[in-house]
Amino acid sequence: MELIMSSYDTTNVFAKILRGEIPCKKIKETTHSLAFHDAFPKAPVHALVIPKGQYKNFDDFTKNASSEEIIDFWKTAQEVSNELEMTVSGFRLITNNGYNANQEVPHFHIHLCGGKNLGPMISL
Ligand code: AMP
Repeated sequence: MELIMSSYDTTNVFAKILRGEIPCKKIKETTHSLAFHDAFPKAPVHALVIPKGQYKNFDDFTKNASSEEIIDFWKTAQEVSNELEMTVSGFRLITNNGYNANQEVPHFHIHLCGGKNLGPMISL
């Protein structure tokens, strides 16, 4: 619950990547977005796409980002999925939003996972 209510935490790992304090395996960078490989991949291909602005999660980004940032973000995600050759074989696009989703990094991001058949979406 704390994650949902709190303000943006500038010490999170993606904020550090954006400030150049820690490295990432960059795939693509645009004016408003950055895509890089997940450091602990859960699929043969596992990319992350983040906005450069300080947004905590999907809800915050979609409510508060400008149209330009939102368009740039989703266009970047599509271009990355295409560049990583996941479009034809298929891929999963996930975002974890808040406590119930076990969101670990409180900077909005989507996961693009592919490279093999990923099985059922969620097991209860
Ligand atoms: P989430 O649980 O949706 O917040 O996902 C956070 C993701 O960030 C996880 O898949 C982690 O493996 C990934 N991650 C954590 N630290 C780094 C890092 N330094 N570089 C790239 N990915 C990271």
